[in-house]
Amino acid sequence: MAFLTTACADYDGGPLYRLEPPSDGWPAVVELEPDELYRFRLEVPPGTRGFSIYTEGPPGEPSGVSELFAPDGRMLIDGTFLLGDGARGPGRTGAAALSMPNHDIDVSEGGIWRVGAPGAEHVEVWSAAEVDAPARLVDVVAHMKEPFLEDDELETLVEEALGIVGLTLGRLEQRRTLDRVSIDIDDIDEDAALIPREDEPVLNVLLYEEIIGGAGASPVAGLPRGGSPVSALAMEYDATPHVLAHEIGHFVGLFHTIDVDGTDLLVSTPPCEPAVFEETPEQCPGVSNLMRRSAAEDRLTNEQRFVIESSMLWHP
Ligand SMILES: [Zn+2]
Repeated sequence: MAFLTTACADYDGGPLYRLEPPSDGWPAVVELEPDELYRFRLEVPPGTRGFSIYTEGPPGEPSGVSELFAPDGRMLIDGTFLLGDGARGPGRTGAAALSMPNHDIDVSEGGIWRVGAPGAEHVEVWSAAEVDAPARLVDVVAHMKEPFLEDDELETLVEEALGIVGLTLGRLEQRRTLDRVSIDIDDIDEDAALIPREDEPVLNVLLYEEIIGGAGASPVAGLPRGGSPVSALAMEYDATPHVLAHEIGHFVGLFHTIDVDGTDLLVSTPPCEPAVFEETPEQCPGVSNLMRRSAAEDRLTNEQRFVIESSMLWHP
């Protein structure tokens, strides 16, 4: 099916759901039912650090939030472009997650957000409150066919990667969930969907001996639970902490600062002249940024750190 395209700037209908994240900083989940126009509204209380909208359609069909209006009426997605970037579509096949904020918009002021998600058969929204946490803990479950790494080797890898993005390792587990050691990058969705669902946030990391098509991959954004194509990021077990940190960046909603599909949504990562990007990409601004496709360095802007700090991935 095609995405519905409508001018819904004035449409103020659809059921209204109030997000009520607990004040302890752990994410809460609500399941929603859009109206027959696949629209709904979210009443976001002040003090919310962020929310993630998960949509699931029939397998093989496009899914995703294709209309999104902030409480001040600002249109962030209108079905054909995402947050001002003409080349990035807002959805993906089967299921998709949208995390907000994924740039500098202030979710914590609260208000009523308007959302359209054509074709969605299942919608759930995760939200969490702003808290002053001494450490932002991430529980990590690594999935593989057979363990490639000793527990302490895996722990070092994950701790270093989380450290790069300002997060701290909580629980770490290894599970023999998968039945292949090598995978094509386009099939990772299938393995992610095999992971059993958990309702407390967990970062699922799929480990392989070889990923054909890259050293790592992640949905933008992912959802920190199992049971969905966007439930996990993937990496080769011997990739560097840098690669894992980069994929975590995607998982919480960060795009490449620049790639063939365009730029990210951030003002702090300036765009590159297309001719320069094509011919001498090393001369583009921000070459040392973690979210450059080929960057070898770990720099993040304050705006990128804000996106990470607003994510559903961590708990206090
Ligand atoms: Zn990437």
